[in-house]
Amino acid sequence: MKFSWRVILLWTIPALVIGFFLWQGTFATTTTDFGNNTASTRMTYGRFLEYLEQGRVGSVDLYEGGRTAIVQAVDPQLNNKTQVLRVDLPGNSPELVAKLRDNNVALESHPARSDGALWGFLGNLIFPILLIGALFFLFRRSSNMPGGPGQAMNFGKSKARFMMEAKTGILFDDVAGIEEAKEELQEVVTFLKQPERFTAVGARIPKGVLLIGPPGTGKTLMAKAIAGEAGVPFFSISGSEFVEMFVGVGASRVRDLFKKAKENAPCLIFIDEIDAVGRQRGAGIGGGNDEREQTLNQLLTEMDGFEGNTGIIIIAATNRPDVLDSALLRPGRFDRQVSVDAPDFKGRIGVLEVHARNKKLSSEISIESIARRTPGFTGADLANLLNEAAILTARRRKEAITMAEINDAVDRVVAGMEGTPLVDSKSKRLIAYHEVGHAIVGTLLKDHDPVQKVTLIPRGQAQGLTWFTPNEEQGLTTRSQLMARIAGAMGGRAAEEEVFGYHEVTTGAGGDLQQVTGLARQMVTRFGMSELGLLSLEDQTSEVFLGNGLMNRNEYSEEVAAKIDDQVRVLVEKGHDMARTLIRDNRVVVDRLVDLLIEKETIDGAEFRQIVAEYAEVPEKEQYVPQL
Ligand code: ADP
Ligand code: ZN
Repeated sequence: MKFSWRVILLWTIPALVIGFFLWQGTFATTTTDFGNNTASTRMTYGRFLEYLEQGRVGSVDLYEGGRTAIVQAVDPQLNNKTQVLRVDLPGNSPELVAKLRDNNVALESHPARSDGALWGFLGNLIFPILLIGALFFLFRRSSNMPGGPGQAMNFGKSKARFMMEAKTGILFDDVAGIEEAKEELQEVVTFLKQPERFTAVGARIPKGVLLIGPPGTGKTLMAKAIAGEAGVPFFSISGSEFVEMFVGVGASRVRDLFKKAKENAPCLIFIDEIDAVGRQRGAGIGGGNDEREQTLNQLLTEMDGFEGNTGIIIIAATNRPDVLDSALLRPGRFDRQVSVDAPDFKGRIGVLEVHARNKKLSSEISIESIARRTPGFTGADLANLLNEAAILTARRRKEAITMAEINDAVDRVVAGMEGTPLVDSKSKRLIAYHEVGHAIVGTLLKDHDPVQKVTLIPRGQAQGLTWFTPNEEQGLTTRSQLMARIAGAMGGRAAEEEVFGYHEVTTGAGGDLQQVTGLARQMVTRFGMSELGLLSLEDQTSEVFLGNGLMNRNEYSEEVAAKIDDQVRVLVEKGHDMARTLIRDNRVVVDRLVDLLIEKETIDGAEFRQIVAEYAEVPEKEQYVPQL
């Protein structure tokens, strides 16, 4: 008996509806069908008895259990012709039957039409049967957790949720910027292509490879490239697909997946977001029986169940290896781990070259300068960037992508869609002061990244933006650099205060304050850069768990927590003071820059610095320029 749960559910609903109508049908079919007797004329019961006395009634057919009679009678009013008449009887009366018999009237009794009754009967039955059936199955499903649900009847055999691509068509050439990973995985291709080379010398072929890295770095692409290079089918499923409402569905999906994979070996199975199922067991809600755990157990069982030389390689991806169940990482399972990170400068050039292949770039474009502008971009961001640029180019009816489209696309990818600039002069002036505040502090502090541009054109959530050129790949960050960052981020609010006064400051600094607090907090709790001393109060892994380490306060006492808060406040105040002072001391150029910004909407970094240099000394900044 192999049902799919989905199919059952899908069918139960129409069945219940049909059942209901059939059930209703028992009422509908009680309208009597009088056979061939078409009795349009009615006769009263009194007249019928009268006719009966007079011997005028020839025959009587009883319907509806004796409540209706079709009577053939000789009607004196119609020249004694025989008439067919309908009579409503007061019920089943034995006296009437006796009287009819006495008068030698042909009497017949008709039961209700049989098919109607049958339908009615079925209708009456189907509804409760379906209901009981549905309840029964639901009960079964949830009650047989421990022994592997669905095994008894193979009931949970799901509609496959995994994808299979016979040929991915992706090669190693399509993957760039993650060279180490590529090198490590080159070997997997050989496993798939020529397993004998390894088995001949008694080497055990690894079954599982775990790719670790943030989203968009090309983990899926890498797995597809391995399948593509080896020329084997590619099976993929996402960990989140396993986590279903019904217990046992995930486990049965794992079973299905491996069954199909075995039929198609050699092949590659890719499990995305494996952390969705592979979390440390026993930590979940619902005790030891929850769905995720069963799915994980099934996965482990399947992985142990095939020999290394079956020709199936499993590649899983996650960005949170720290939460994975240790059983997954044991030998014979995902015993190889390869980390995949956002590409560096050289890597970005590689990725951009891959994605520029099918795009028309004008000759002025230098891939290097795009790579330089995009530190921190993942492969997916870069692919998206070039695509956005191509869309803009088409919209502007240009022949080929130019640097203008690239720059706009970078801004869009980083900060969101461009909005329309404000016209209202007061808030526009305030926003201008806020942004110039950031920019001037950033320009005057030696350890701050240089300003790239300041703009009043809104993007995403921001009403105005100051862009800095990040100094990438410098490795370590100094205390003065962090302080400069805090001061720069406080520059916006400081300018508002300085120009409009304490009561006129706006909500615009919300994001800045969040950033500043996070930074200051890390200086105190992780980098030993406060009066609290050289303590590490939060470790980096907790950040991975909780996103920002803010919820992690109970690792230390209340007393220490209060001290941390104090120190954070000290650092933030210091940055705020630095910013206030710089703005006060340079108020003249700030005012001039604000006027210019309102007029032009955007000032680029070089022009900004030039103007500031007329009034103050602008420190030279050491910018690390990545070399090829
Ligand atoms: P992940 O699985 O790590 O989240 P994907 O492999 O799904 O990332 O990447 C999404 C897309 O981004 C890919 O299809 C590809 O177009 C592009 N991409 C990501 N990383 C790279 C890379 N290293 N080289 C080339 N393209 C990449
Ligand atoms: Zn700001």
